[in-house]
Amino acid sequence: MTAETSAASPLAPDWLAYPEDANELLPKMWARDVARGAAGELEISGIPVSELKARFGSPLFVMSEMDFRTRARDFKESFDAAFAELCGGVDVYYAGKSFLCTEVARWVDQEGLRLDTCSGGELAVAARAGIPGSKLGLHGNNKSDAELNRALDMGLGRIVVDSLDELHRLAAIAAERNERANVMFRLTPGVHAHTHEFIATAHEDQKFGLSMAGPDGTTAGSPAEEAVRSALGYDSINLLGLHCHIGSQIFEPEGFALAAERLLEFVARMRKEHGAELPELDLGGGYGIAYTEADTPRPPAELAQAMAAVVSSTCARLGIAVPRISIEPGRAIVGPTTFTLYETGTLKTVNVDTPDGGTYPRRYVSVDGGMSDNARPVLYDADYSVALASRVTQEPAIISRVVGKHCESGDIVVRDAYLPADIAAGDLLAVPGTGAYCWALASNYNYVARPGVVAVADGQARLIVRGETEEDLLARDLG
Ligand SMILES: *Cc1c(COP(=O)(O)O)cnc(C)c1O
Repeated sequence: MTAETSAASPLAPDWLAYPEDANELLPKMWARDVARGAAGELEISGIPVSELKARFGSPLFVMSEMDFRTRARDFKESFDAAFAELCGGVDVYYAGKSFLCTEVARWVDQEGLRLDTCSGGELAVAARAGIPGSKLGLHGNNKSDAELNRALDMGLGRIVVDSLDELHRLAAIAAERNERANVMFRLTPGVHAHTHEFIATAHEDQKFGLSMAGPDGTTAGSPAEEAVRSALGYDSINLLGLHCHIGSQIFEPEGFALAAERLLEFVARMRKEHGAELPELDLGGGYGIAYTEADTPRPPAELAQAMAAVVSSTCARLGIAVPRISIEPGRAIVGPTTFTLYETGTLKTVNVDTPDGGTYPRRYVSVDGGMSDNARPVLYDADYSVALASRVTQEPAIISRVVGKHCESGDIVVRDAYLPADIAAGDLLAVPGTGAYCWALASNYNYVARPGVVAVADGQARLIVRGETEEDLLARDLG
């Protein structure tokens, strides 16, 4: 190998440092019970990955039950503590869309969290897990009549109404049934958070939510105000309060705080002008996690304290009671609990010309899954990290790209990573941080079977979602 292979590569992005020890696992990216065993192999709760591969095959989603429960509890306890004196605590709704199956819904319930859904299918999972309707929320910008009826059948704690159309439709459905629907309004406060910065605008150009901007740029005469006014006129609507969700993968609390301020000001005005009691306020999800060494998530306690300070001072300034606060973390609870286990296949090294006139090697490492089990790199240009899992090595690291087996050149799992130069076919790789929006977004592209999910706890591994078989793949094809 040339000298380039034992030093930082000009092909690496700025945020990726050449590793002192390529075998090291950064704790912020992994579940708490993942570590290397005595011989160097990756283990979870003491189970070596080679054993998981032998029992369950690959690719495989490997989830730590202990880590999931710990993160869920941490959100609940941290926010409860920060808001205890202000509003008696916080309702934490786990965003089921990030990852949901019956077993995980049960963990959520057992840890004292509630569950957010956004479709009839997600409601079906919640029902199968035995979660009472009072602990469920339903989101969505285009809920069907069937979904709204199902929500009423299940006695849902809250239906988060997204538009005036939906309000009128739900009011009619509930009236027909002689019931009152529990409703929150999703508002767009014009705050968008992007990791290290957030932008604030008056007008929104997106499909979700009721705009808070009226004709003169203030909230007067806005669709949000129209919704509150209409709701107060409906006997079939029990208006609980307001909701916002400002984005995803957010590290800093400022965006949440600004959104909270804007919503609370609106609450005060609705109370003054329409006599509206809005006893609940949901500040949404979007808390960021570490996908790579460059990501710096804050502990829930820090976020909770920052948000509580703003809610407290804003309510005091406006002279209103502090509403019951709720939040909706998805990714930050399930994301770091899971790694995807892959087996390495084809390898090739290409020489890449750079603008400075140099030529540098990049290693392509193909694995037995890809965009069918992790669509986020294709969808969002998302970055991930990777570790050689089946062993350690003292070989130098080479800048590498982990790619899938699909018929797309964009089928990338990890765009940039330093992997040991002696990686060979049959090695196992682990990609951390794949608990959220990976299994949930999985597809059967190229008739590749979707992987199963294994939960590990107390040194035991069990399937909680089985992987697909060739029969599954053919089952809906009517021949
Ligand atoms: C997606 C979503 C969430 C969860 O977002 P995360 O980034 O996974 O925390 C919460 N609330 C709403 C309304 C969402 O659409």
